[in-house]
Amino acid sequence: MSFARGRPMLWGLALVALSCLGVPRPRPAKDPAALRYNITYVREPTHALDVEVVLVRGTPRAFRFTQPGGVHTVSAFREDGERLELSVKDGQVLLPSNIRFLRYRYELDARIGARGPDLFSGGGEGDARHLAGRAYLIRPNLAPPDLRVELVVEGTEALLPWQPDDTGLYRLRAEDLVDSGFHGFGGRRCQVVSPDAVLDVAVLGHFTSVDDTQVCAWLKQAAEEVRTVRRAFPYPRVTVRVIPVPGREGPSLFGMVLWSSPPSISLLVGQDASAASFERDWVVLHEMLHLTHPAFLPRVPWLSEGLATYFTELARARSGRQSAERAWEELVDGFARGRRVAGARTMEEVVTDGDFALGTYWTGALFALHLDVEIRRVTGNRRHLEDVLELLAERGPTSTFGAFGVAVDAVAGQPLFDALLARHLRRVAFAEQEGLLEALGVTAGAEGIELVSARDSSLREAMEGRRIRDVSR
Ligand SMILES: [Zn+2]
Repeated sequence: MSFARGRPMLWGLALVALSCLGVPRPRPAKDPAALRYNITYVREPTHALDVEVVLVRGTPRAFRFTQPGGVHTVSAFREDGERLELSVKDGQVLLPSNIRFLRYRYELDARIGARGPDLFSGGGEGDARHLAGRAYLIRPNLAPPDLRVELVVEGTEALLPWQPDDTGLYRLRAEDLVDSGFHGFGGRRCQVVSPDAVLDVAVLGHFTSVDDTQVCAWLKQAAEEVRTVRRAFPYPRVTVRVIPVPGREGPSLFGMVLWSSPPSISLLVGQDASAASFERDWVVLHEMLHLTHPAFLPRVPWLSEGLATYFTELARARSGRQSAERAWEELVDGFARGRRVAGARTMEEVVTDGDFALGTYWTGALFALHLDVEIRRVTGNRRHLEDVLELLAERGPTSTFGAFGVAVDAVAGQPLFDALLARHLRRVAFAEQEGLLEALGVTAGAEGIELVSARDSSLREAMEGRRIRDVSR
């Protein structure tokens, strides 16, 4: 996740038996063993999402909204048409027996009106809307791994994290709904196609000075820079939702990846952004670099943000978008900003400040740099931090902090992770910075950062060196 520097911005059983004649029959699943979600995008009187869930035999009776607060009542229908109004308590609904299907409405525009635009609970412009699936999609409280789900969206074109089949049907598993990612409705589409990946992009509003082709070209540049860190783009297909924010010029004001399967990215972009500002942007690259590491369970924000922050500067140097001097200047500036926040505290204390605190990002980035240097030192510059990411990727989309350390040691061919971690965590944050940069030959000159010959400068040159790959092969 990333904020544009300087201006962080957030867009801000009671059962009532009613006789209910004339309830339309639910649309059942094609697969009789699958839970079926029928989602309808409604425009009148205001934008809303109508959700119908057709249950199957054996469906768990406890359901929940991963992010509670958006739906207060769910209508449950028995086989004979009897309708029960179920209250949602703390996001949870316990179904009585013999329920055939559920219906409820998520009042999108009412939520936006009450809370202001918000990346999770809803935002948008014209006929386009954006929100997180977790705000409006009810799901089984426990997701049995073998429970299949079918999902369709009617009433508009949607961009969900998953790929539908030719008929528009999404075939999922119940666990895909635990983090159902970001969802876009309406708007326009563009696509970034490269030999190993496709980015499907929804533009959910209008820009004053760039067109969709320029938006997609900007995303393509970032995707190519990801390939300077990983051998191939980490997922064959990823979705990106771009949300213009009125009255703002910044290329990307805020970005976030949600760990849906596959991950989904959404970006708040200044409506008045220019193509030239896209060239200087780092936020979209930072978000895409989160795709290069596994989702850590439980989460370790300082590590994931540290990796993305560190590689954001290297990748821009490797692609030629910035000079090596500029990349080191960005890193040194970031360390200085992190240091001001950290004061005399240890890294261990700093990373407890919060997931998205400045100190968390930059102590993490310094640790990532040190890790990369140590792996290169002990392997004669033959192995590096990217090899750790490749190794973890072979093992699947999620990992643990412990497995990350084991992978570092495996790539290094010797144990070094625990000792290096202890050195950083227990000492005053950023205490390792001077010695590390000196050994790499990164020094402050009269006109900014100078790169000079030093003990490990050959490692530094290998880290920052140009490496745009020929992806046409
Ligand atoms: Zn991030």
